[in-house]
Amino acid sequence: TKRDQYAVIGNPIAHSKSPDIHARFAAQTKQSMSYDKLLAPLDGFVEAVRAFVQAGGKGLNVTVPFKLEAFALATTLTPRARAAGAVNTLKFENGSMLGDNTDGIGLVNDIVRNAGVAIAGKSVLLLGAGGAARGALLPLLDERPARLVVANRTHAKAVELVHRFDNNPFLRAGDFGELEDVFDVVINATAASLSSEVPPVSPRVFGPHTLAYDMMYASEPTAFMRFATQHGAQARDGLGMLVEQAAESFDLWRGVRPETAAVFAELRARMEAT
Ligand code: NDP
Repeated sequence: TKRDQYAVIGNPIAHSKSPDIHARFAAQTKQSMSYDKLLAPLDGFVEAVRAFVQAGGKGLNVTVPFKLEAFALATTLTPRARAAGAVNTLKFENGSMLGDNTDGIGLVNDIVRNAGVAIAGKSVLLLGAGGAARGALLPLLDERPARLVVANRTHAKAVELVHRFDNNPFLRAGDFGELEDVFDVVINATAASLSSEVPPVSPRVFGPHTLAYDMMYASEPTAFMRFATQHGAQARDGLGMLVEQAAESFDLWRGVRPETAAVFAELRARMEAT
């Protein structure tokens, strides 16, 4: 019998670590499956997905820039995908396309389980209002933080994002200029690190117990991580989020939860060697 087929679809896709992660999960849980990279033309996402399904494909991870198109294409959505307005995981079954978003829960699991930092009852500052921030909001709120402030360079986008969760008394949009008190957790969900920039946040938000989390990952600490540690905070990058979102997708597809710690350690070691 043919192995069940999965892939990550995006553009560009060459540098994706997802095939490596899922191959390790499959070996560990003894699942008979393949997981490839799928490069879709920028104007050909839907056709590429349909061809993959036609060929018997069982599921896809979706990455930049197709998460919104995947959201539109899915025939059924999980609550967290609906809240995010974006889909990073598709599951194909009996002609239906289930859309999920595992990025936010991946972030929360990495912070709470792996870093051992509670969100419940704590103050959380989320920087950014793009796709990554949107995906994180519902899973963060589900942890019941004492307060969650969203700040974005374009303030109106943070306001709009917060409005989608109207009447949540713990959530509000904050202006970068007015943030002067220390937060327990500060999450960088902006794309600033991609260009070695730091979002315009006051260093006063960092204290010795603050976890400064950058969704980006690299072999070196990011600009945001350096900025936060210079001001006394503990910093962590987004590699764990990447592994955790993959584990959540794997579970959705295969009904088995892989162990993430060893896979994370192997990925980290490999990244530092290159
Ligand atoms: P988007 O393009 O959707 O959003 C970009 C956000 O960053 C916007 O809020 C934008 O603000 C802000 N921004 C961009 N440049 C700057 C800057 N120089 N200073 C301040 N703010 C800035 O991107 P995504 O949300 O998809 O991705 C954000 C980051 O998250 C990326 O680094 C990505 O690699 C990472 N990520 C990591 C994942 C993981 O598994 N670890 C998963 C998903 C994403 P404005 O509205 O003002 O333009």
